[in-house]
Amino acid sequence: MSYFRAIDPFPLESAEHTKLHEFYARLAGGRLATTRCGGCGATTWPPRGFCPECASDRFEWVDLPAEGTVHAFTVQDAGLPAGFDGPRVFAIVKVAGHRIFSILTGADPGAVRVGQRVALAPLRVADDPRGHPRWLPAFRVT
Ligand SMILES: [Zn+2]
Repeated sequence: MSYFRAIDPFPLESAEHTKLHEFYARLAGGRLATTRCGGCGATTWPPRGFCPECASDRFEWVDLPAEGTVHAFTVQDAGLPAGFDGPRVFAIVKVAGHRIFSILTGADPGAVRVGQRVALAPLRVADDPRGHPRWLPAFRVT
């Protein structure tokens, strides 16, 4: 599926568009990563090229566990973005103390529970305007 750029809901993930492209490259390989500040050592979510704690712009990549637990969730039945089938379960997933806003794929909306264990399952979305694959963080119930 392709989109006109004006209504493209997904980030441009390639190196020419974002210095956080490593996040998406690792995600495409099934790894969840974030940034650790090169100044103060703080690990943040989402990944950032600029530290909110000490204002450093030095950072390194660190992998996070590929599993977490549902901290909160909601179910969307209507108004879904193009390309998404409903109902869609959105969840805040706790991973190593970080709260990650994400999609739960393949979940029965009536069976999702807070505290439930989930595993990383990156979701491929529409290719970017140059045809490069793009990925979003997503989880599936284990
Ligand atoms: Zn810092």
